[in-house]
Amino acid sequence: MNESIKKTKLVLDLDKTIWDCYDKNFNEIWAKQLVPPFSLSNNSNDLTDDVGGTCRLKADFRIFLEEVFNLGLTISYLSVGARLGVPLEFQPSFLALKKFEILKYFLGDSYLLYKTEKKINYFYKDQSYLFIDDSDEVLKSVNDLEYINAIDAKFIKSWKKQTLKVQELLKTN
Ligand SMILES: [Mg+2]
Repeated sequence: MNESIKKTKLVLDLDKTIWDCYDKNFNEIWAKQLVPPFSLSNNSNDLTDDVGGTCRLKADFRIFLEEVFNLGLTISYLSVGARLGVPLEFQPSFLALKKFEILKYFLGDSYLLYKTEKKINYFYKDQSYLFIDDSDEVLKSVNDLEYINAIDAKFIKSWKKQTLKVQELLKTN
């Protein structure tokens, strides 16, 4: 395994980066607004909640996740989509990761934080990171840090192609 894979951590935002969630009228919602229990629809990329809400994994995200996992990257999630005062095992986002059966790929230190927390406080200078997030504010906050290589999720048209991009970025690190 090459050195940059060993030292680089892949950190993924959840809402609007790896999935999109909707209420029963197809208005966009955050995953924290989903109401468990969840069920998976015929296609395992769609989850339905108890009140007609849905959560859809981005197209080909599963393929990407498995590929980068197999490359040996340590993968974490970092989200400010926590419901206040709810233990992790009852958090809708955590339950969604479980239901989609993708929690097993997130072996790095992961954080599901309340919305007032700053993500920048969860990166450490002695590590290097590939960080994928859709929030302009968050991306701007890490822009000047040389140990964080950030990718704007809004520009990801195909997750399939992201594995190549990750490999290229690792080469230049
Ligand atoms: Mg987001």
